[in-house]
Amino acid sequence: MNPKEDAELREFIRKLALLNAVRHDGKAQTGSVVGKLLAEKPELRSKAKEIARLVGEVVQQVNSLSLSEQKGIVEERWPEALVKEKIEEEKRLPPLPNVEKYAEVVTRFSPNPDCVLHLGSARAIVLCYEYARMYKGKFILRFEDTDPKLKRPVLEFYDRIREDLAWLGCKPNEEYIQSDRIATYYEYAESLLKDGYAYVCTCDRERFREKSLASEPCECRGLSSEEHLKRWKRMLEGGYGEGEAVVRVKTDLNHPNPAVRDWPALRVIDSKKYPHPRVGSKYHVWPLYNLACGIDDHLMGVSHIIRGKEHLTNEVRQNYMYKHLGWEYPEAIHYGRLKITGASLSKSKIVEGIRTGIYKSWDDPRLATFAALRRRGITPEAIKKLIIDVGPKTSDVVLSWENLYAHNRKILDPKANRYFFVHNPTQLKVKKIPKVFTPKLRLHPDYPEGGFREYTITPEGVDNAVALWVSRSDVDALKAGKIVRLMELFNIKIGRTDAYSVEASFVSEPYEEARKAGAPLIHWIPIEAGLPCQVVMPDATVAEGIAESACKRLKPDDIVQFERFGFVRVDEVNMKLTAYYAHR
Ligand SMILES: [Zn+2]
Repeated sequence: MNPKEDAELREFIRKLALLNAVRHDGKAQTGSVVGKLLAEKPELRSKAKEIARLVGEVVQQVNSLSLSEQKGIVEERWPEALVKEKIEEEKRLPPLPNVEKYAEVVTRFSPNPDCVLHLGSARAIVLCYEYARMYKGKFILRFEDTDPKLKRPVLEFYDRIREDLAWLGCKPNEEYIQSDRIATYYEYAESLLKDGYAYVCTCDRERFREKSLASEPCECRGLSSEEHLKRWKRMLEGGYGEGEAVVRVKTDLNHPNPAVRDWPALRVIDSKKYPHPRVGSKYHVWPLYNLACGIDDHLMGVSHIIRGKEHLTNEVRQNYMYKHLGWEYPEAIHYGRLKITGASLSKSKIVEGIRTGIYKSWDDPRLATFAALRRRGITPEAIKKLIIDVGPKTSDVVLSWENLYAHNRKILDPKANRYFFVHNPTQLKVKKIPKVFTPKLRLHPDYPEGGFREYTITPEGVDNAVALWVSRSDVDALKAGKIVRLMELFNIKIGRTDAYSVEASFVSEPYEEARKAGAPLIHWIPIEAGLPCQVVMPDATVAEGIAESACKRLKPDDIVQFERFGFVRVDEVNMKLTAYYAHR
């Protein structure tokens, strides 16, 4: 860098540090400033070390000023930055730790393709993706499919998971499948065995457990590495049956958590009985979670592991392997549990429900799978907002469906067109209508430029009457003599009602009169302008009714609001409209 560039860079860092300090009670944080700097000037990434030192210096200077001095400088020099920072801050995730240590921020989402994804995975996906994006880094999708026996992967889920990520707008930059990488795991297992950091344990499971609980080595642990390499060869050649041999990674036998002690890294699976859906019976020695995941994180250059705190012990386990291999463990961020009341987020329950036929498909509206949410008209933006709001905090969080709906409503409300849907239709006959009415109903009340739907109400017969569909629940709330306003049409007075129909007579046209009379507003559809409609509700029941004929122009995936009913996603339009209910 020449002196001029150097001075400019220093000044830019000073600006970032001052802004950061103003937001953090006068104390700028070196990590955040470096992160921001590298995000804005990615070309500096190759000089991360030098940059970190420079930022450290500037931050120290800035932090030696008082908060009011800092504010004074910012207000004078970059007043616009203060406003901009504020807006950005609202939706920003907190900075990742130690970003400056890495050439690039790399995150990964690593599902086992043994089920479709559901809302419970949203946090891992959205945080990993958004952080990678925030630092202009890389987001990896890694299929962890190395247990063909107990967590058997299913071919169709690989694609469904890819589709779900694409729908969420979290497309990975790279994709890996662990069942393609078995040779790599073997290579590292062999090297650990050779160097005496792992051993092939042929003890009976119960016997090993007793020893381990007593912090004692089993009979295998002390044998020479030559012997273990022999056993390893035998393992690969099929000389051991299921449960007869396990490769264990050496740890501290006195580790306070017995589950950490000499953890299993690879084991034998009867591949004739449990073939893998992708590689069949090619392998019968399969890596276990910590070996495969630990090796991959390092080899794939993962800088920040962002996952649930149930993985804390796995970090402890993998740390031993990292030390054996001379590797440095990535930054690990463990967030708390996210519970959504009323949503079943148990994979096994979902799979079981599909198997037994309780749920018809992966997008059954009762499920919290992404497929189901998509079908109901829950937008990926709402899911992202929900997750970013919660962030990566370590405390447990309980949310409700309503939290998600509130985000979704905010997104849909300004753009979803409105239509009338009459649930449980009942005939309303309105008499004494003085003229032909041609109401123009706005598709969206806030955007007249969005267009209209238009109906013609032509009085007929000796009593100048028209017939309309109205909802049974509206009728049930009406008593004879009551004034009601038909939305955007006119005011009527209720006459005779029975189980099948209602009669009313025209009163007046102005909305003002209805308002003065405190008249309820109800929606309606001309009898001849109805389209049979079914709305599949979140509990999988079906709300039967009639939608206005303008709905014929809707297309699958359109999301509209049925007035006074709720937001729905159009699923199918032909002689009948089928929609899925999102929420009110
Ligand atoms: Zn043993």
